[in-house]
Amino acid sequence: MTKAWPAPPAAVNGPDIEALRTAIAPLAGDRGASIEVSSLNGAPRLEGTAAEWQDVVDLGHALSDAWYRLSQHREVVVDVTTPTGSSQPPSPTPSGPTVPELPDKTHVLVVGGGICGLITALKLSVLGNEVTVIETGGSWGSRTTTWNNGMVHSGFDPKPGTHKAFHNVRGNIMWDRLADDLDIRLRRAGSVVVSLDADADTRVEEYLARAQSNGVPGCEILSGDEIRAMEPRLSPTILRALVTPTTGFVEPVEVCRAAARLIRAAGGRVVLGASVTGVAVEDGRVVGATTTSGDIACTVLVNAAGVHADQLAELAGVRTFSLHPRRGTLVIVEDDHANPYQFCVGPVPSPYTKGGGVTLRPNGTLSLGPSAVEQQSRDHVAPTTEEVRSILDQSYRIYPDLDAAAVVSVGAQVRASSYGEDFVVGPAPGLPGFYNVAAMQSPGVASIPSVANQVATDLLDLGLITANTERFTALWRKS
Ligand SMILES: Cc1cc2nc3c(=O)[nH]c(=O)nc-3n(C[C@H](O)[C@H](O)[C@H](O)COP(=O)(O)OP(=O)(O)OC[C@H]3O[C@@H](n4cnc5c(N)ncnc54)[C@H](O)[C@@H]3O)c2cc1C
Repeated sequence: MTKAWPAPPAAVNGPDIEALRTAIAPLAGDRGASIEVSSLNGAPRLEGTAAEWQDVVDLGHALSDAWYRLSQHREVVVDVTTPTGSSQPPSPTPSGPTVPELPDKTHVLVVGGGICGLITALKLSVLGNEVTVIETGGSWGSRTTTWNNGMVHSGFDPKPGTHKAFHNVRGNIMWDRLADDLDIRLRRAGSVVVSLDADADTRVEEYLARAQSNGVPGCEILSGDEIRAMEPRLSPTILRALVTPTTGFVEPVEVCRAAARLIRAAGGRVVLGASVTGVAVEDGRVVGATTTSGDIACTVLVNAAGVHADQLAELAGVRTFSLHPRRGTLVIVEDDHANPYQFCVGPVPSPYTKGGGVTLRPNGTLSLGPSAVEQQSRDHVAPTTEEVRSILDQSYRIYPDLDAAAVVSVGAQVRASSYGEDFVVGPAPGLPGFYNVAAMQSPGVASIPSVANQVATDLLDLGLITANTERFTALWRKS
């Protein structure tokens, strides 16, 4: 039976708003921030001013934690400004001509040609739906997707019970089938998390327990000597290692190009160099979008706009989350040491990042990092010298004989982190036709096959797409 689109959420009630105000008042006072809590589209909203961007991020996290304790929901809207600018800067502008031309109608319009938009579009299009992908940039995966580690994480790290935990573990399994379908390289090298000091060592068991609770297969803790017997170049200071053998690696831009090719082969349209600037709503449902290359009618709009996804939701009047850009710098190294690396090695994660490390790429290079730096701009991707130095220092602590002279490039991209630090995936309540694939920070690459499967399942249940059942179960399904 067809399900109904979720109804508009009720406003956050008065007692809850009061409880949220009380919960964040001490932090706001400490930071000298002038803030007010209200409700927007059923989510708590923080408005006001703060001195520094880090204050805004910390207040947003505190509000999310308090909201989770009250409601089991994590996402909040944060519109707090700083003297250097607003927390909601303008949407991106298109770069270059629109190639090819935008059609005037499509059944599903996917906004954003990064890995998440393209894999979702591929899933919907091979099931027999008319799909168009629209991308601001001049190439596929030209934003966050262009500069990341490409790790198909095992799922040892996300908090149990989150969307991240569910989709990461499931997506990891589904990647084998997807890589075959895309005909791209997937390297299942495995990864280890190492403790480099006594404090980190106390948390190794915690991550083993998390891995087991998330259902990650094959994890175990080895002593420093045992892991060095497998990888002799590892530092003698490593105390213990959590081994997660199911970790793999892909080249995300290669994935995007292959997906765009298959979408075209399935009859879909993929359009570069055009931006969605408005969402057309009639009789309370999505009917199309305005773009820099004209209007397009659609029945379903998938919001896969990366670090701009909350702005797109705002254009549609259904913003229930905010993104705070978190820059990640990577240093790429060609190290042709006689003993090749066996697997990826990272430190014990910190609260909001897996902590970087040394990652193998399918193309034979190594990625060192990434860093994790909160910044107000969604578009600033210039690494600092300090970030690069600290990434190299951390890498030497893991592999003391790493050849720093073999650095071939340094760059950064911005993660689309929400204050709930979870993915925002699902139909936007109250606006039939608007579906979010948003806040896809890491492990977005690892999780996307499972997320795309959820999009297809939801839209099918809502009666908004059709699917050849045989193909549906065959394509990237876990079982
Ligand atoms: C340094 C770093 C390392 C990472 N490492 C890993 C890893 O090892 N494993 C992992 O799983 N994840 C990793 N991640 C996270 C991963 O990169 C993301 O989850 C993933 O790339 C998100 O893809 P996306 O398609 O959602 O976003 P994007 O790649 O940013 O794509 C969104 C696209 O939408 C377009 N767009 C925005 N607004 C509009 C509009 N209005 N109209 C048209 N187009 C628009 C943008 O131009 C952009 O191309 C890492 C991230 C970083 C920064």
